[in-house]
Amino acid sequence: MAASRKLSALRLPPLPTIREIIKLFKLQAVKQLSQNFLLDLRLTDKIVRKAGNLTNAYVYEVGPGPGGITRSILNANVAELLVVEKDSRFIPGLQMLSDAAPGKLKIVHGDVLTFKVEKSFPKSLKRSWEDDPPNVHIIGNLPFSVSTPLIIKWLENISNQNGPFTYGRTQMTLTFQKEVAERLVATTGSKQRSRLSVMAQYLCTVNHSFTIPGQAFVPKPQVDVGVVHFMPLIEPKIEQPFKLVEKVVQNAFQFRRKYCHRGLGMLFPEAQRLESTEKLLQLADIDPTLRPTQLSLLHFRSLCDIYRKMCDEDPQLFGYNFRDELKQRKDKIEEKEESNGLQMP
Ligand code: SAM
Repeated sequence: MAASRKLSALRLPPLPTIREIIKLFKLQAVKQLSQNFLLDLRLTDKIVRKAGNLTNAYVYEVGPGPGGITRSILNANVAELLVVEKDSRFIPGLQMLSDAAPGKLKIVHGDVLTFKVEKSFPKSLKRSWEDDPPNVHIIGNLPFSVSTPLIIKWLENISNQNGPFTYGRTQMTLTFQKEVAERLVATTGSKQRSRLSVMAQYLCTVNHSFTIPGQAFVPKPQVDVGVVHFMPLIEPKIEQPFKLVEKVVQNAFQFRRKYCHRGLGMLFPEAQRLESTEKLLQLADIDPTLRPTQLSLLHFRSLCDIYRKMCDEDPQLFGYNFRDELKQRKDKIEEKEESNGLQMP
């Protein structure tokens, strides 16, 4: 048994270094695409170790670029690695890695924002949500402009148990700008507490595993980078639809320095704002003078449950958006001024 395990273990044969690959295939980073590469394999190994034990795992790597993290994943004895890269210049270098690891590396030239990984790995990997996590992992160092919308999309997938979470509680190890990593793990009352903290933490156990200094990347970005690990929770801490939670949380943080009733009030049309906000906060048993950053997950749970009840009682409420109301009011004023001959400049 031990011998067969040893036989299946893969060590990549000697390959050109990532720096040599970049030179060989003329892979200069494109600034507009925020490409910053990791060339130090000790660092890429460290990121991959934070993903957990990858023996026989099926791994989805997003944005492999010249393939530093890709190599570390292949060296972790995985069953299969699927990489999705948008920039076609990287495909030949990745192909070289694929040749060095026969049958292990699948390369897709595509966009992670639209790619459907749930169709890619064997169905036999599926675990029930309450079970241990499946042997499926997502790992990636993406541009910051992609990683934040992507994590919101994946959090919604966790809430619906679909997309990459069709396999069960798939774990993710991803990089973010350090400040975003800090927001993702920020606790109640801390300065960095934000919409992202609540959205991530009501669905996952989130860990800021370590920080990589900007100078470790080529070219060096303006900021340091945080490696964050996400493990979806069996039971989310708020049991309401993702879009409803998102709306409550977004509104709550609308005016982050003011009392929480200010932002939460924006959930309601102006005509009923005072009365409905008071009702929401009273039923949720929340002090209206708490700041948004002082609201705990339990507070948000109550707020979402009560807001849900209010939406059930008034089916128009969920569709209400205070920005639309503001715009309508502005349009009306402009119309009135035009008809009075007071044209706006
Ligand atoms: N993972 C490599 C590393 O750590 O050295 C490259 C990191 S670089 C910051 C981000 C990579 O993601 C680039 O190769 C870029 O082309 C790729 N990328 C950017 N947007 C993408 C998208 N929407 N879908 C797939 N790949 C993307």
